Amino acid sequence: MRKPLVMGNWKLNGSKQMALDLVTGLKKELTGVEGCDIAIAPPVVYLDYVQKLLSDSKIILGAQNVDTHLSGAYTGDISAAMLKETGVTHVIIGHSERRTYHKESDQFIAQKFGILKENNLVPVLCIGETEAENEAGQTEAVCAKQIDAIIDLLGVKAFNNAVIAYEPIWAIGTGKSATPAQAQAVHKFIRDHIAKLDANVAQQVIIQYGGSVNDKNAAELFTQPDIDGALVGGASLKADAFAVIVKAA
Ligand code: 13P
Repeated sequence: MRKPLVMGNWKLNGSKQMALDLVTGLKKELTGVEGCDIAIAPPVVYLDYVQKLLSDSKIILGAQNVDTHLSGAYTGDISAAMLKETGVTHVIIGHSERRTYHKESDQFIAQKFGILKENNLVPVLCIGETEAENEAGQTEAVCAKQIDAIIDLLGVKAFNNAVIAYEPIWAIGTGKSATPAQAQAVHKFIRDHIAKLDANVAQQVIIQYGGSVNDKNAAELFTQPDIDGALVGGASLKADAFAVIVKAA
């Protein structure tokens, strides 16, 4: 049985005060919740602060990005080892916002995946199609290409102890979530695609859904057999809404 993972991606939001209020609220709402892993990924400058707030909690600390270099003259970059030293265990890579605004390629994201694995960090690989690709019937081809970039560089076993987040771009921040049936179909495709190479890896890999998940639609999404939790943006900034989503998983 796969244990679902609900992860909050704060994106470029928050302040120290907001982090304090949110984490305090989450710890209160989520004590004693079992059966679901919970993670939050604040902006990198707050990681150390949030790690301290989480020291008496089971909530996992995540980061939103990593760079491909380990050290050296790379101004502004942050290494996997630095994240790890700060208490991070899960790292989001390949988010569509980074693919779009920072022109990150599938190959570059595969390098990040490799760096995380080398440092025993869990990659949370975001994949998903644009609205135009969806309407052109290219969803499966796009997802397969984004997964294959990892497999080509690192082999299918790299997906052992890794997370995939299927986030259709048209559903992110739009209030227009994929329907449970739509999401399930893509999740099943992703799992079957990996199973063609390694059935065991496919069976254990966590596949989250992301894109306008909220306290109203989460429960129905989680009834689907291949949806193993969620990567949550906007609704992860409110303790009560995020707690409802976690409890639904
Ligand atoms: P929203 O939940 O705000 O749609 O964002 C989803 C997302 O991009 C999570 O990574």
